[in-house]
Amino acid sequence: MPTIEGATETYLKLREKLQDVVPDFELRHKAQLAFEINLLKAERGAVILGHNYMEPALFHSVPDFTGDSLELSRKAANTHADPIVFCGVQFMAETAKILNPNKTVLIPSPNAGCSLAASITAEDVRQLRKQFPGVPVVTYINTYADVKAESDICCTSGNAAAVIESLHADTVIFLPDEYLAKNVAKETGKHIIFPVGDPLSVKRLSQELDCTLVGWRGKCEVHEKFSVEDIRRIREQFPDVVVLAHPECSPEVVEAADFSGSTSAMIRYVEKTHAPRYLLLTECSMGDNIAAENPEKEMLRLCSVRCPHMNQITLEDTLSSLRYDRYQVEVPEGIRVRARRALERMLEISGSSSSSNPRIASSY
Ligand code: SF4
Repeated sequence: MPTIEGATETYLKLREKLQDVVPDFELRHKAQLAFEINLLKAERGAVILGHNYMEPALFHSVPDFTGDSLELSRKAANTHADPIVFCGVQFMAETAKILNPNKTVLIPSPNAGCSLAASITAEDVRQLRKQFPGVPVVTYINTYADVKAESDICCTSGNAAAVIESLHADTVIFLPDEYLAKNVAKETGKHIIFPVGDPLSVKRLSQELDCTLVGWRGKCEVHEKFSVEDIRRIREQFPDVVVLAHPECSPEVVEAADFSGSTSAMIRYVEKTHAPRYLLLTECSMGDNIAAENPEKEMLRLCSVRCPHMNQITLEDTLSSLRYDRYQVEVPEGIRVRARRALERMLEISGSSSSSNPRIASSY
């Protein structure tokens, strides 16, 4: 049974980080849960991976590793622990299973989906391949295993440009995020078309088969909501604010921001720069997590926009997950083997690459 002393230590550790972010009575409750999870984790030889969007008390207490999709994929590829508990959404836990077929991979909630992953099917990819024979397919890691299995290589927001450039192909199919595709097209000097429902762009493509990204109209239901008007209003109120936008935001928002990069690139940016305040255009919990690590810096965030999928993952469900081995992630072997190939290609080329847009990286 957990001891009071152990739970108290967990509480004190959390309070040191989160006293300005989470009310005290809630911290005490969450510290007890975190302590029980950590005890059970040690007993079972488990590892917990936590995405940067996890709520602050969970993020700062139970994961052995935290990070963005790419970093957690690397950890999943290298871990010897079993079971792996993935505090993130379904496609991330699937990625861990694809890389660790003989281990038990658990996700605390079966309802942690993703609007981007749900925007495209394996059949959609097969149709695009028929439409553009011989054109390589890059799929964002925010897709389900059967979609990854139809692709040549995966990417994350942190390495999308490097992955595209590694293919040395004039034309690339890039799926499924419309805004990430537009932002990456700009970064790699390609123009972009969206062939489904737009026969004109296909006609144009047959005339100019050079430097083209073939996109899809999937969107992140969180990042699509941020607008240039949001940035204008915040700058009006806080003229010294530095604005960071995730590349799943629209190109207009990315253009109006001071920096764009993956969640981990944003964290590094805040750590390395010295602005008085930052606006984070990404899931709100990450603002809390960065604020806890950088108490001297003010984090503005627009928390009316939350990811309903990431928020499914709670300390309560993480404890139940470890206690009852639920919910186990399975990927059919025929799909897993092909999806793994696409993931491993990405991991091979992404060792040192990360694409972010440090427009003012040297300003602070
Ligand atoms: S934040 Fe967007 S991309 Fe990430 S899990 Fe939520 S819906 Fe999917």
